[in-house]
Amino acid sequence: MARHGLSLIDIQSAFGTEDQCLDYCEMMRWPEGVFCLKCGSDKVSKFVTNETTRERKNRKCEIVEYTMPARRLFQCNNEGCRHQFSATAGTIFADTHLPLATWFKAIGLMCNAKKGLSAKQMARDLGVNYRTAWHLNHCIREAMQSPDGLFGGTVEIDATFVGGKYDKRRKRAPYDKQAVAGVMQRTTEDHHSKVRALPVRREIASEMPNVIPQNVSTGSNLMTDEHKAYVALAKDGWKHEIVAHTKDEWVRGNVHTQGIENFWSLFKRGVIGSFHSVSVKHLHRYLNEFSFRFNNRESRDIFNMIVGNLLIGSALRYKALIAKTSIEPVLLSSSEPE
Ligand SMILES: [Zn+2]
Repeated sequence: MARHGLSLIDIQSAFGTEDQCLDYCEMMRWPEGVFCLKCGSDKVSKFVTNETTRERKNRKCEIVEYTMPARRLFQCNNEGCRHQFSATAGTIFADTHLPLATWFKAIGLMCNAKKGLSAKQMARDLGVNYRTAWHLNHCIREAMQSPDGLFGGTVEIDATFVGGKYDKRRKRAPYDKQAVAGVMQRTTEDHHSKVRALPVRREIASEMPNVIPQNVSTGSNLMTDEHKAYVALAKDGWKHEIVAHTKDEWVRGNVHTQGIENFWSLFKRGVIGSFHSVSVKHLHRYLNEFSFRFNNRESRDIFNMIVGNLLIGSALRYKALIAKTSIEPVLLSSSEPE
């Protein structure tokens, strides 16, 4: 087993056929036994439809025959219901009409891609077209959500700017960059460190005082650099330690922000290295993806978590995905100087 739960070879042998994938979906979705999606009855029988030939019209309005493969279905035994459904009914897997084995391979690729995986690369690895890969990529990314809740103990706080084309003429890049706030809870006795990162407005000094209480419990021990965003923290009752980067101080005993800074460099290398360009309107998804992988880096369960989220979580529709968001689109260019 690879560190992230399942290697691609494991996935190929465990989920190479539609039947294997359906067994797994059934087990994940109904661990206590299948119940009817319509009436909730647990009196349900399984059956398999025969492969049939059907007719439909093609683009030129000619009648063509196509094969409807055998399908594994459930039927509710409740007299008044008799509802028929599949193990993936009502989930995103049913919407795409892609073989489940392709989905599962794509999830495996994303689990293992420490620096992220572009749709282009996924298209090559899976042998699907770019549009399909892009859709898989974003749906799986959407399922890589870390739980909410406040961080505590010793927490490193930092903000950074991501992307932006370097303007040679003006020798600066600030206006194309997206500000990102990050909090990292340091390793405790029973939990390794975990991170959360979110896009924020460019005005860090006024943003960070809001970000901190929304993500960190009061009484935590905060570590920051000497940015003016943090000057009032001690006054507001937080325990606060500062490293003075401007005085070339990076680590003073256990006072440092190296954890969150390492995460920034992992993220930036991933975004710049794997993706030709990342639209800012999708940036929060990339941040979620990298945080999720970081937070579950020692979990053998990461694959199950993603499949579970895709089965149970709300199916992300293509339209919703490409819908406009309030943050103005900015391309994070691969030409950004490090
Ligand atoms: Zn029913």
